[in-house]
Amino acid sequence: MKKVVLITTGPTREYFDRVRFISNASSGLQGKYLAEEFLRRNWSVIVVAGAGVEPLKRKKLIWKKVISAREMLAVVKRYLGKVRIIVGAAAVSDWRPQRFFPGKIRRSKKELNLILKPNPDILKSISRKKHINQTVVGFALEEGNYSKQLKSAWKKLKEKNLDMIVLNPLTSMESKNTKLTILRKDGLVKSLPVQDKKVAARYLVNEILQYYQTIN
Ligand code: C5P
Repeated sequence: MKKVVLITTGPTREYFDRVRFISNASSGLQGKYLAEEFLRRNWSVIVVAGAGVEPLKRKKLIWKKVISAREMLAVVKRYLGKVRIIVGAAAVSDWRPQRFFPGKIRRSKKELNLILKPNPDILKSISRKKHINQTVVGFALEEGNYSKQLKSAWKKLKEKNLDMIVLNPLTSMESKNTKLTILRKDGLVKSLPVQDKKVAARYLVNEILQYYQTIN
């Protein structure tokens, strides 16, 4: 099987009329840097990116732009059988508006109530059916004290059946820098210093490939 990695990145948008949506401030930068690192190591890369992330144009790179979480899930599922590694770096909106109003809702002095429904968990749904040789890596954006962050990241790793989870603090959301802690399902923990997301990506891809090689 060819060396192919799929990376989700950026925010999803959940529209409630033709022009308005709920979303988050994810830049998609970390996912882009990961894509570049995998390309450097001669892997083929499929990026499934939310709106507003400037696409990369490279050989051996397929860039799929999606809008909503459900669309992201559909695209990821389509490629699942072809990829060896999946990295979920996207900031998927946890909810979507229950109703979509066709057209533009007119301004009014009355309150507008939105009912939000939970979105599917992309990583959870794909890792349930993952092949034994596939590696699935997630991210956990956490706040509060460090031990609480670690506990929450371990819980997510187990619940989503991940091989590895990358803990990063809330402060990394719109920043150039990040401070990652890598947790592996066999119990290994590696804490990285505050560094540029590009440098962090290099380290992270080394760790992912090292793990991938142990199971393949
Ligand atoms: O549970 P939480 O949203 O903190 O999990 C974050 C991880 O799960 C990230 O890797 C993110 O890309 C992924 N995720 C997902 N689908 C969702 C929510 C999060 O794949 N609906």
